[in-house]
Amino acid sequence: MRLAAKGRRKPPDVKQNRAGSLPELLWLYPDRRFADAEVPPGPAVCPRCHASLETDHWQYDEHRYHRLRTLPETQTMLCPGCTRVERRLYEGEVRIRHRWDVFDKETLLNLIHNEEARARAANPSARIALIEDHGDELYILTTTRFLAERIGKALHKACHGTLRLSPLPRERFTRVWWER
Ligand SMILES: [Zn+2]
Repeated sequence: MRLAAKGRRKPPDVKQNRAGSLPELLWLYPDRRFADAEVPPGPAVCPRCHASLETDHWQYDEHRYHRLRTLPETQTMLCPGCTRVERRLYEGEVRIRHRWDVFDKETLLNLIHNEEARARAANPSARIALIEDHGDELYILTTTRFLAERIGKALHKACHGTLRLSPLPRERFTRVWWER
């Protein structure tokens, strides 16, 4: 008798409510729902940056982009990086203070864009969302923490100076500061 009663016992409340509570959690953290674009079943191209998806990884190859966009089964959608820029999902900032008579601004901007290109090849979500030029300071927003840190480390390696990396506690955000 006791065993039969045990078999009919209700599942614990936490299990019953898990599925029902998910939409509520997404409502509490709306930006998490769109943190990354959905992966489509077939090939896809991003009209904004010409990234293309053929198997399971977004890549940057103009030839592949132009070949895929002519196929009828190819979907057109924003890639993960452009989705983050569009939704203003920033995870890093870089502040650069510099005397421009030592290294010129174009050289530093080239170095910064090269780091972005390398980071993008490994992670299509990594993108520079904004670069503001305030004269003696450049202000950069990135879509991943890793890219902000990578830019700071590259500046430090190439030009020395002072580098500070400050991940914000309990936030998906890193502040990077470099001065020379
Ligand atoms: Zn894109």
